[in-house]
Formats: sequence, structure tokens, C-alpha cells
Amino acid sequence: MEFNMNLDKGNLLYRGKAKDVYQTSQPQQVLVEFRDDITAGDGEKKEVMSLKGYYNSLISAKLFELLEDAGIKTQYIDLPKPGYMLSHKLDMIPLEVITRNIAAGSLLRKYPFQEGQTFNPPIIQMDYKNDEYHDPMLNDDIILALELASSEDLETIREITLQINAVLKSFLESRGLIFPDFKIEFGRDDDGNIVLGDEISPDTCRFWDSETCDILDKDLFRKGESGVIEAYQKVANIILDDEDKERWNLDF
Ligand code: C5P
Repeated sequence: MEFNMNLDKGNLLYRGKAKDVYQTSQPQQVLVEFRDDITAGDGEKKEVMSLKGYYNSLISAKLFELLEDAGIKTQYIDLPKPGYMLSHKLDMIPLEVITRNIAAGSLLRKYPFQEGQTFNPPIIQMDYKNDEYHDPMLNDDIILALELASSEDLETIREITLQINAVLKSFLESRGLIFPDFKIEFGRDDDGNIVLGDEISPDTCRFWDSETCDILDKDLFRKGESGVIEAYQKVANIILDDEDKERWNLDF
């Protein structure tokens, strides 16, 4: 397959901590570039890790495709080249929607849960995506008062989030990965529909090897441990099928 094609990359619309969003020649489509920057602790810890964007884009594309196949609307259109995702343009809602199947991370620092405690039904937590205020946790009344979303929107977001969790958890478990928690973001399309956006990758999820319990996500970076990029590559290897490796011309 030909990958040195020209990418439809116009003006930079948005620069995030790990991704850039470019306008394309189609008004309602954007090109998302997955960068190699990796950050933690509100952006205080920052490094560049070669190939991180490459693996994250592949993992996100595969998981978005899986969700689309399950009937869940996402921003994903195509991954014309690893590192670059063609996506529907969305008006993003500044909520970080976190789903927790197992107690880990900040939940253990803030509340008296047992490490490894499972949640059924899962816990859904919403944080305000706002660096200035350090992404504080919200409740429905604060979300409504800040006019971030309506009650109806919140109901829709919770419903879609639970569906996403069910699809991803069952797929990942079938591949030997434990899925303790993840963060997703939503936006509105032109018709006002709530659509899954952003990314789903080891930057935004916890993935543990179900045999060894090895950590295979950004927690390695957060804790200052080695083998970060090797872990991301391992997740890509576990998630991608031979046909995916062929169509994206991958050699790992
Ligand atoms: O830090 P905490 O344990 O609350 O994170 C829960 C989940 O949400 C983790 O999978 C983490 O990677 C993700 N997350 C994220 N971006 C943030 C905060 C959390 O992707 N700003």
C-alpha cells in the first residue's frame, strides 16, 4: 500500500498536549496528528518519545473501528497514514469522561477504596477539561451551572459511555488485557449529535497484562519507569490483527 501520499493538511485549528488538529479541504473534516509528546501531572512532566504518536494512532484507529462496528458513532473516518487520523469535525465538550472498572490511580489517592476492587456497574466520573483549574471533578449541578452540557446530553453521554466500556472491555479481555479504567471525550457534530472524539490509547487508558499483571500504559511514564514505548508497541501488537498490519504496512 502507498503511504507517502500527500496528506490533506491545511491550517492548524488546535494544538493539544499530544495531538494537533488541522483543517482539511473538506469543511467538516479534520486531520488529527498524533505527536510524540508525552505529558503527566497537568503537563508538568513532559518528554518526547519517538513512535508514541504512531502507536497511539494505530491503537485508536483500531478501537474506533471496533466501536463503529458495534454501532457507536465516532469521529473516526480513516487512518490514511499511521500518525494521522482523518476525522469528522466536532464541537468538543470540555468533559473528561472517566470510566472505572477497577480501583486504580487517583481514585485510590482520594478515597478509601481497596486496590484492585472491582466496580459493577462501573463508576463514571466527569472532570472539567480545564488546565487553569486543574481538571476538577464535576457533578451534574456544576455541569449544568457551567452550561457545559444539558441533563439530556449527560444521560446520552452516560449511556454511550457504558456501551463503549462493554464493547472495549470484552474485546480487550479476549486479547488478554485487563481494562481497569479509561478517559474519553465527546463532541457535537453538525446535526447536534453527541459523538465520541479524541483518542483511545495507552495515554488515556489503563491496560494490564492479564497473565503477568504488567502495566502497559502511561502509568509507566507517570511512575518514571522504563519500557514505555515497548509497552505501547505491545498493546498495538495485541490489538491489531494481521490484516490491520498489512493494510497499514506495519513491520512490528
Ligand atoms: O488519574 P486517574 O486515575 O484519575 O485516571 C483515570 C483514567 O483516566 C486513566 O486511564 C488515565 O489515563 C485517564 N486520564 C486521562 N487524562 C486525564 C486524566 C485521566 O486520560 N487528564
